[in-house]
Amino acid sequence: MDKKERLELAELLIPEKVPGLEELENRYPPRALKKNNWVTRVAPSPTGLPHFGLLYMALINERLAHQSGGRFLLRIEDTDEKRELKNSRQLIIDTLRRLQIPIDEGPEFGGDYGPYIQSRRRQIYLGTVKELIRRGRAYPCFCSPQELALVRRRQERQKAQPGYYGRWARCRHLSLAEIKKKLSAGRRFVIRFRAPSGCSRLEIEDLVRGRLTLPANNIDYVLYKSDGYGLTLPVYHLAATVDDHLQRISHVFRGEEWLASLPLHLQIYRALGWQLPRFGHLMPVMKLDGGKKRKLSKRRDPEAGAEYYWRQGFPVRAVKAYILRLTDANFDDWRRQYLLVPLDDFPIKVKRLAHSRGPLLDMAKMEQLARDEISAWVRTNVGEVYKAILDWAQEYRPQFARVFAANPDYSRAILSIEKESRKDISRWSEAEDVFGYFYDELYRPLTIDNLVSERVDQPTAEKILSEFRRRFSGRETAEEWALKMRQLSQGLGYAERAADWRRRPDKYRGHIGDVAMVVRLALTARRQTPNLYAIAKIMGWPRIEQRLGHFLKADS
Ligand code: GLU
Repeated sequence: MDKKERLELAELLIPEKVPGLEELENRYPPRALKKNNWVTRVAPSPTGLPHFGLLYMALINERLAHQSGGRFLLRIEDTDEKRELKNSRQLIIDTLRRLQIPIDEGPEFGGDYGPYIQSRRRQIYLGTVKELIRRGRAYPCFCSPQELALVRRRQERQKAQPGYYGRWARCRHLSLAEIKKKLSAGRRFVIRFRAPSGCSRLEIEDLVRGRLTLPANNIDYVLYKSDGYGLTLPVYHLAATVDDHLQRISHVFRGEEWLASLPLHLQIYRALGWQLPRFGHLMPVMKLDGGKKRKLSKRRDPEAGAEYYWRQGFPVRAVKAYILRLTDANFDDWRRQYLLVPLDDFPIKVKRLAHSRGPLLDMAKMEQLARDEISAWVRTNVGEVYKAILDWAQEYRPQFARVFAANPDYSRAILSIEKESRKDISRWSEAEDVFGYFYDELYRPLTIDNLVSERVDQPTAEKILSEFRRRFSGRETAEEWALKMRQLSQGLGYAERAADWRRRPDKYRGHIGDVAMVVRLALTARRQTPNLYAIAKIMGWPRIEQRLGHFLKADS
């Protein structure tokens, strides 16, 4: 086809007035940024519930942009209408908001390079594909699914490379007159890319994977589908390429599953005369399953869903800290050194990103990190922790939220206990279990026989509690409290120090720890708690007396 015919063909296939390349270039000019200010994006498809991979991709892209002084975009890639799930777009936006990552441009965030939802960029894609047709780099294909299946079967028989290419690509060679005939017969068509011939291998420097040699693409992939009435929406390959260029993305970090189509994308860029962004293909997040590494699976692994982390009540900073650790194992050392600085100060280094095997999502490590983060947070700002727990509980445990919020000072005091060292919570869903006993509504008293142990029989347990009630007032200083505890133990034949009992077990019935355990179990119904004195100070004596009352008659 000569140039005149190609122009005619473009008008025939896309009669609408759509913006040309020049108009698009002017509408979306290069950004006024310096070369080292990266522009990145995360581009999820709204095809299901947001998963951990989205958090991972978003944080890496956001950090890389912002730590370079650049910009970070959210783009919704919804051109595959069949796979789209209702509500999913909103869930993606909510998930990213929840992760508290600053988005400079995107749906609901604004920006000069929008729209940021692909289904609203129809005119832009049509303008681009029209230009590809004019340049002879795209053509209409009328092959029906049956005809394509036939080609596939023949290729199988002949052991030929599968796909629509070269001599198998029948429509590639149609003349304008033939095309016109098919069009006037109302034949359905798609638009295919005319893959260049000649080059067999392609060298590329991937930012994550290093220098790669990939086989060049020779398949005439579909760029645009139609629904029988006209062209609908482009496929990912065209839409993403057009958007990355016109949104002036400088660095594309995306999943390694897209590496295979990179040669096609490079060909599209070249066909349009555009400069390439830099690419980095990230390895997928893995998990250990029966000693073997496998990809995290949305269907099999609860921790693959983003919602899992919110429902469990992992604080955002813990999730972020964990993702940063997945980008670089040096994070642990850094965090040990700078536990109290904002996580954004940790520099992500592209060179440190996993490039041969995917990083391992290990929930035990996640919990440990979360414990450290919560511990640091309590140390620096109990008020914020109180608020975070309350927000979480209002959403996921409204009953607990009511109790927790009824007396904010009491709750904040509970959180402050041993705040320099406490590490008993790794997520908010544990809060109720760990310190719920402070609240009368949640405290479930044990029975006296639960207080019995190897070295404390039931009459002694009762005696410990009644002596405790008689001797203590709740007004003691820490020293007085400790002294009274020792006296109480000694009076009942228990060693004042565990070490004494260990040396002479025959001399004592047990030691002070056994005595304190009875009091602890009575007041908290838990074996492990912070220091009893600290607990008593916060609970207050009336509440303590009331709890002792469950085990003792009023006059004993
Ligand atoms: N929409 C693609 C996906 O969800 C994004 C790929 C990309 O980042 O370019 O996998």
